[in-house]
Amino acid sequence: MKVTEYFGKAQDNTLISFEILPPLKGGRMQDIFKILDPLMEFKPPFVDVTYHREEFLYKQNPAGFYEKVAIRKRPGTVGICAAIMNRYGVDAVPHLLCGGFTREQTEDALIDLNFLNVQNVLALRGDARQFESKFEPEAGGHHYALDLVKQIKDMNEGKYLDSNIENGLQTEFCIGIAGYPEKHFEAPNMEFDLTWTKAKVDAGADYIVTQMFFDNKNYFAYVDACRKAGINVPIVPGLKPITKQYQLNSIPRHFFINLPEALVKEFSKAITPEARAQIGVEWCTEQSKELKAAGVPCLHYYTMGDSAIIRKIVESVY
Ligand code: FAD
Repeated sequence: MKVTEYFGKAQDNTLISFEILPPLKGGRMQDIFKILDPLMEFKPPFVDVTYHREEFLYKQNPAGFYEKVAIRKRPGTVGICAAIMNRYGVDAVPHLLCGGFTREQTEDALIDLNFLNVQNVLALRGDARQFESKFEPEAGGHHYALDLVKQIKDMNEGKYLDSNIENGLQTEFCIGIAGYPEKHFEAPNMEFDLTWTKAKVDAGADYIVTQMFFDNKNYFAYVDACRKAGINVPIVPGLKPITKQYQLNSIPRHFFINLPEALVKEFSKAITPEARAQIGVEWCTEQSKELKAAGVPCLHYYTMGDSAIIRKIVESVY
């Protein structure tokens, strides 16, 4: 079923969903089940599975020269989606990137997903690779998520890259996109960012999932700004508990977001790792309760492989 159909059926009830990462190469499907098994009692209608573009690394060969090699550390998104749907009977939402795909490869990936009965995708651009100063698309690939949304929408209308195909199978993908309550880091301002978010919605995106945020005011202000800009699709808040000392620096650095002073102060006062984790759990629990009370369509948790922490939060909220 489509993500937006779940929202429609739930009416004013707030749903719950989880995002997982494929295991590192060499890992097993059991690694994923270990994370999801303890979370399935909360009945998420869908689970997102992230996609990871290959990175270029420099490796020394036996002759002593450095060679550039492409390594994908977390392959397997499509297979994992199929396994999740089969084991739990819930929908899986694969993330699909512009980066690393030509238009033809994108089309093939969508055909595979459609044959696997995957009905939802989160359409994203992806980030610059290590050692690249800015995002570089694959030759013949898309520059922006907007172009990816357009390609998916075309397939939903039976239009394929090969213009000789007439009456092509119309896929029925429900299309999610990313949203940034603290704006995307490359956008010069929020208005600019929202212009392109609106363009994606006008091109066919059905719902938005936000980047994580730690101050609900940012989410509420973002939803208001979207509505004023004419963006009227559901906006799902993405949530992640901060549980470790190093995340005070790594989360703002990687995700270009702010941590509220009150959270940082509380965190810095805690002496043990357990006390820090507890502060993060309580903070995320309070965020979740307020968002649920405000009637958001769904609380979307970035599990980052730690279901025990997510369980604690969800148990207190539902
Ligand atoms: P875009 O919508 O293409 O926007 C990128 C920037 O360009 C923005 O600043 C925007 O304002 C601007 N822009 C957009 N369109 C245009 C245009 N036509 N002309 C000029 N400027 C434009 N990354 C992964 O690698 N794998 C994942 O699985 C993954 N999952 C994610 C899930 C969520 C919920 C979120 C919020 C992010 C995720 N990301 C993931 C990260 C994402 O790939 C990055 O944030 C990336 O930098 C931007 O992706 P986007 O789809 O928002 O890009």
